[in-house]
Amino acid sequence: MIDPTITRVEVLDLRFPTSRESIGSDAVNKNPDYSAAYCILRTDSELTGYGLTFTLGRGNELCVGAARYLAGFVQNRRLSALTDDLRAFSRQLTDDSQFRWLGPEKGVTHLAAAALINAVWDLYARQQNKPLWRLLADMTSDQILRLVDFRYIDDAITEQEALALLNAQRKGREERIADLERSGYPAYTTSVGWFGFSDEKVRSLCHEALAQGWQHFKLKVGSEPADDLRRAALVRDEIGGSSKLMMDANQRWGVNEAIDRTRELAAFHPWWMEEPTSPDDILGHARIRRESGVRIATGEHCQNRVMFKQLLQANAIDVCQIDSCRLAGVNENLAVLLMAAKFGVPVCPHAGGVGLCEYVQHLSAFDYIAVSGSLENRVTEYVDHLHEHFVDPVRIRNAHYLLPTQPGYSAEMYPQTLKDYSFPDGKVWRDLA
Ligand SMILES: [Mg+2]
Repeated sequence: MIDPTITRVEVLDLRFPTSRESIGSDAVNKNPDYSAAYCILRTDSELTGYGLTFTLGRGNELCVGAARYLAGFVQNRRLSALTDDLRAFSRQLTDDSQFRWLGPEKGVTHLAAAALINAVWDLYARQQNKPLWRLLADMTSDQILRLVDFRYIDDAITEQEALALLNAQRKGREERIADLERSGYPAYTTSVGWFGFSDEKVRSLCHEALAQGWQHFKLKVGSEPADDLRRAALVRDEIGGSSKLMMDANQRWGVNEAIDRTRELAAFHPWWMEEPTSPDDILGHARIRRESGVRIATGEHCQNRVMFKQLLQANAIDVCQIDSCRLAGVNENLAVLLMAAKFGVPVCPHAGGVGLCEYVQHLSAFDYIAVSGSLENRVTEYVDHLHEHFVDPVRIRNAHYLLPTQPGYSAEMYPQTLKDYSFPDGKVWRDLA
């Protein structure tokens, strides 16, 4: 097997003008232009690695700048020098003695680390000629363990506990893979209920989604109370009593308000309330959970495994929403999958944006195959935007993600997309200027 040397790292600023159609709009993020700091790892072989991190537009250049700095840890190294000890490699990116002052392990620098770590995983999976989920599923429990940095979390899960958990799930894994190959991984749709959509549009999108087989629907809340209640009523009316309705406040409320508002909206039987308050308020989430009587979900802004650890330890969440780019790539996501399994909390990844669905389908599949071993109360977010830009896009059938079959981590975009959506000089942005 060839062992390429990474000769050059390109980092591109890609932005998609999604705000023009209110796609992605919610109570806090009113006008996102889905964007990516996009890394291309050129090598001295035929192989190329692609990775990204996701942002909402303005500030994407900061992630690009951070990724360009971190690229120095990748450039001129053989792939095996990185993959022989991926725990050490991920720590190099998150623990640079000067750069870590900007975090540590949070915000722009962490998002940038995710882009590079994801790109290295893509290159690794291509070298092994496997989709990422399969590359992980073919590893031994010991190999998985050595991907995870247990620093700061071993008070919640020790390496021995993680090993026992992985070993316990080795039984039945072939059946679970066969199950995924047959039916796919269950998904829910967020595309029906964006904040900026009119009532009529929400109604008709719900109607269409039901006809396509969707059974789980998410509605954005956090506007005027009367508006939230009206929209919740119309979605519940449209999807019927047996479909699941999730609500997402995108951090809109303080703790007291979140409790009051969630109690009011409980009349429409939400399956969960997502991001009811600040993503950093662990004890606030715990109190909202206790006092609202509604299941609580969060994670898309949970900045690292340490915060997830505390959310789990504090009994603050019922649903753990990992994000493939907010956490530092595959490695840190594995740490959170293991902790969630230990605490018995289902993982329902955050997705959407650009490329997040392409990514998390691999992590959800691996969670089922090798970590949690369960699909109970688990659905992965799906948003029906921008997949046409990907060479190996997600495939949805009957509200399930079909297992990826192509080698890699599914984030490669078409060359024409890289040209047209480059910010600010790509054709799309010049035409809008
Ligand atoms: Mg959300």
